[in-house]
Amino acid sequence: MNALQRIKKVVIAGGGTAGWMTGAAIAKLMGKTIEVVLVESDEIGTVGVGEATIPTLHIFHRLLGLKETEVMAATNATFKLGISFENWHDTNKNYLHSFGYLGKDCWACGFQHFWLKGRQRGIAEDIGAYCTEHLAAREGRFAVLPNQDLNHAYHMDASLYAKYLRQLAEQHGLTRIEGKIATVKQHANGDIAGLTLQSGEEIDGDLFIDCTGFKALLIEQTLNTGFEDWSHWLPCDSAVAVQTKSIAAPIAYTRSIARDAGWQWRIPLQSRVGNGLVYCSKYLSDDAAIQSITDNVDGEMLTNPRLIKFRTGTRRKHWHKNCVAIGLSAGFLEPLESTSIHLIQRSIIRLLQMFPAHGIQSADVDEFNHQTEVELLNIRDFIILHYKVTERSDTPFWRYCRDMDVPESLAHRIALFKQSGKVYKFAQELFGESSWIQVMLGQGLMPEQYHPIVDAMTDSELDNFLKTIQANVQRSVAKYPPHNDFIQHYCKAT
Ligand code: FAD
Repeated sequence: MNALQRIKKVVIAGGGTAGWMTGAAIAKLMGKTIEVVLVESDEIGTVGVGEATIPTLHIFHRLLGLKETEVMAATNATFKLGISFENWHDTNKNYLHSFGYLGKDCWACGFQHFWLKGRQRGIAEDIGAYCTEHLAAREGRFAVLPNQDLNHAYHMDASLYAKYLRQLAEQHGLTRIEGKIATVKQHANGDIAGLTLQSGEEIDGDLFIDCTGFKALLIEQTLNTGFEDWSHWLPCDSAVAVQTKSIAAPIAYTRSIARDAGWQWRIPLQSRVGNGLVYCSKYLSDDAAIQSITDNVDGEMLTNPRLIKFRTGTRRKHWHKNCVAIGLSAGFLEPLESTSIHLIQRSIIRLLQMFPAHGIQSADVDEFNHQTEVELLNIRDFIILHYKVTERSDTPFWRYCRDMDVPESLAHRIALFKQSGKVYKFAQELFGESSWIQVMLGQGLMPEQYHPIVDAMTDSELDNFLKTIQANVQRSVAKYPPHNDFIQHYCKAT
């Protein structure tokens, strides 16, 4: 393909969450001017996990003009206010990373400094007492109230979400082709020319989006783009997933329970619970992992345990030649903070912003890859933090995590917080100060100092300051009904 050939046809290879999110967005926003085709194979199927999200998904839904009530009803969704990390700091020590904002900042320093002094004086409660989303999650309360929205995400059925987006994409003119891609044809310059299906059908195109999951059929198997391996920092490489019947009303947070060689997730939907064990195969066999998940689920198993193998890391370029990798084909950071669907959405929005309608130019490609890399590195560091900062030393896996070297960027953040209680957020960074603080404190990293401006307050002023915030949080949370009651009413209000 000529480097400045107009893009008239986009071909999406793969119809998992990544494929259908991409298809729905491109068809809805550009479907009047370009042809959009999606190829998926019923025989291969999808990875079938990926049910916990983070609040940025609202941006994607707004872009598509979707109503929250409709999405929730279509995907059996529940609300998510954060993640409970159990046994991560140490066995029997739990904390919650909520999506909320902690306390109240002053011009010079964050709320954690006031809290740190309060804690030293014995007048501060657990940090979560100063955050509305945190308390609402713990008390099982939720509602969408005018001007008092809790910062929330969803737990949703991934296959229903893909179905829902497929409908939307097809309404906007996307053509779906079912079939197995057998070969990928290239132009003389290496660009992708088209896909040949097992049936013999040929699908040509100008821009190709690789959403083929871990196979990375276009970006890697065809274009050999290369992979940066992060498994020395994120050593889990396997998961076993199983769905169970609900035995209780759904809670408004994901549970992440650290186990001997990894961690277990519990994701409550309206209709069932998603469970899985993420583990490192060097320390736990597949058979032992299946036994562990079978022993540690509540409720009847609705599916057989399913093994998934992965490698943590990233494709060296997410956009290479006339191919953009979105979803698992682009890399995987492991699901600890539910960031994969967020990264899919970010790549879609970035691609739309840089859409090469008049031809692919290297500056666009470089900018896309640069922004993606910056975003990924920050998320990677945040996830590694959970493994590195732990007092667990009871198993070889946890000793490895505790003792491993971490990227310098993360080592700096850890040292800064430990020495001075300071955190910071770069402009484009996903996780804000409140997230870093909750996880660092939760994992047992206690700063040695607080900001000196806090000493301008007397102990009784500080006590009053903390109590006022806590009382406001309690008053807000008391207004919300039980989470499950609200879902029943809300999802019927479509
Ligand atoms: P897939 O779902 O694998 O889809 C690939 C598609 O490509 C399929 O349609 C398949 O049929 C098609 N395909 C492949 N080869 C061919 C071929 N030759 N011909 C035709 N079609 C083909 N993310 C989150 O945000 N939150 C989570 O809680 C979360 N949990 C996870 C837990 C685990 C254990 C794992 C492994 C991932 C998790 N993720 C999570 C990530 C999330 O599952 C994925 O980001 C998301 O599902 C997107 O996957 P995908 O569409 O890229 O790939």
